[in-house]
Amino acid sequence: MSICAERVAFSKAISEGEKNFECLLVLGGKENLIYTSPCGYCRQFISEFCDKNFKIYIYYEDGKIIEKTLEELLPDNFELK
Ligand SMILES: [Zn+2]
Repeated sequence: MSICAERVAFSKAISEGEKNFECLLVLGGKENLIYTSPCGYCRQFISEFCDKNFKIYIYYEDGKIIEKTLEELLPDNFELK
């Protein structure tokens, strides 16, 4: 498994001291925008730094952006209790 843009962005921000994240916008595609949702690995990674109501905006099609919460994308994340 390689590393996705989402984890690169979070890792870079965290390494520079950022702790509070407002939202994430995910755009996919090489020549044209295509629907690309964060992978399972990224969903878990994000859940370790953001609460379940964290907003993730995803390009859908025809210029539309859909809004999801982290909980919608990862309803039963792994957590150390
Ligand atoms: Zn990913």
